[in-house]
Amino acid sequence: MTLGKPSEKEEAYFKMQELKKLRKLREEECRRMEEEECRRLKELHWMRCPKCGMELNEVELYGVMVDACFSCGGTFFDKGEVEKILEAADTGFLRRLRGALFGSGNTAD
Ligand SMILES: [Zn+2]
Repeated sequence: MTLGKPSEKEEAYFKMQELKKLRKLREEECRRMEEEECRRLKELHWMRCPKCGMELNEVELYGVMVDACFSCGGTFFDKGEVEKILEAADTGFLRRLRGALFGSGNTAD
């Protein structure tokens, strides 16, 4: 084993370590930029109509606040809202229709 000038193998090792460090820094930078981009897009699109881009308004539908666009007439549902509305709406016409078609008892399916 010799002391003094590092061997080519040692130099290659240190260069590799340096490249790994730079690559990791670049990956972190990309990740941070993606988060910033996600945040920027969310701010830009929050409560905006996905069809026409105008501002959305909350309106009540069967006791559930849904997002409606008064510009293009679209109505948009957040996660779980459709299920709540169908459940609430199922007290009148749909229940009677189901009763007429399949009998009044609940189906055990
Ligand atoms: Zn719209």
